[in-house]
Amino acid sequence: MKKIPAVLFPIRCYHFFRSQVSVCSLFAFLLTCQLVNLSTMAGAIADEAPASAVWKQFKSKHFVINYKSDEKFAEQVADKAEKDSQSISGKLGFEKFDNFWLWDKRVKIFLYESAEAFRTKTGSPQWAAGKADYISNEISSFANNDMFIRSVLPHELTHLILRDFMEYQTDVPIWINEGVSQWIEPDKKQRAHEAASMLLSKGRLLDINQIASFDPRKTQNLLSPQEFYFQSASLVSFIIDTHTVAKFRILCGHIRDGKTVDDALRFTYPDSINNVQKVQDAWRKTLEDKQ
Ligand SMILES: [Zn+2]
Repeated sequence: MKKIPAVLFPIRCYHFFRSQVSVCSLFAFLLTCQLVNLSTMAGAIADEAPASAVWKQFKSKHFVINYKSDEKFAEQVADKAEKDSQSISGKLGFEKFDNFWLWDKRVKIFLYESAEAFRTKTGSPQWAAGKADYISNEISSFANNDMFIRSVLPHELTHLILRDFMEYQTDVPIWINEGVSQWIEPDKKQRAHEAASMLLSKGRLLDINQIASFDPRKTQNLLSPQEFYFQSASLVSFIIDTHTVAKFRILCGHIRDGKTVDDALRFTYPDSINNVQKVQDAWRKTLEDKQ
């Protein structure tokens, strides 16, 4: 059985391969806005604030929010993180986190005083709005960052929740990892379908093997980062929305237990999308039907 090339699980919006750290990206969202001609997110970037050397903490049941000066924003982040975690876990049926991220296993969120401080201290690129470290269970961003609360936080939490469900299995295809995290983001999948449809009309929609070969460590890929995000989001949204999230959870379980993607598809969807080619054909047909 053909095995789809898989990029290691910790990779996400942007990836530092050896450190197992990933940067949550405003990049993909900005590019999304460009492609579908939505407004820019300039207003979502925080104004610079005075630096403060002292970290303060705001703790909730599953999160420790480390902040420099903006306690109100820290409380907002904690509240949203608790609600999002419940919501995401419920949507995906991955319930483990509720009894898992407790006490010293709480997720640590660091809110730097400014975008510049965040990027300097974490070594993040200019386009990054947040950063997740799957090993230390940490998420970093900066204060007064509406984009973080609205879409980056749920995206990152989905990665952490999926990682827990997959029991740190490292051979999860990157398109599934990124696709499901974008499926969770509000308003993302519709934009992804529109972008994928546009790519299809231009003859630039790739097959799943090509999407799966995307490697953010490389400067040369078959598709650009924004095309990768659009297509992975559209593809996973198609799988979940046409065959239920319960089936998708079973699919992930088979991959976690060591099956190839083709085998996992065959066990999960024996009478429909039971191999990669059939997924691809059905996905393309759905996009064609919308044109
Ligand atoms: Zn991601």
